[in-house]
Amino acid sequence: MDSELVLHTGGCHCKRVRWQVYAPSSIVAWDCNCSDCSMRRNTHFIVPSERFELLGDSKEFITTYTFGTHTAKHTFCKVCGITSFYIPRSNPDGIAVTLRCVDPGTLTHVEIKCFDGQNWEGSYEQTGIASCSKTTDEDSK
Ligand SMILES: [Zn+2]
Repeated sequence: MDSELVLHTGGCHCKRVRWQVYAPSSIVAWDCNCSDCSMRRNTHFIVPSERFELLGDSKEFITTYTFGTHTAKHTFCKVCGITSFYIPRSNPDGIAVTLRCVDPGTLTHVEIKCFDGQNWEGSYEQTGIASCSKTTDEDSK
């Protein structure tokens, strides 16, 4: 498996929110069916938060929505409304990057896995999604 990190860039529709993220070029993305993700057909991949960086004055354009346990921070652009990334309930120490908000050209392979957000606790255990935001010596090489 190729775990070498590549620099990806992306952002929201109006481009006021822009970011860069280090992740492999071959990734696992999560197709989640929770109440929020299903409304916006969200598919995301998770990275440790230190591999994610907002660019320029992006912060000024970000607003946050929370609900339920208020653990997830659903950040979105104040201007165009797009959630290009957010902090997921499954990985409060990580960032969920919206797959379709990554600029084209740097992702070579995407494996889509389902996260059953309607049965959140069970899926959290079963998928081991929590490990997606952890850095290990192995994948920081
Ligand atoms: Zn925007």
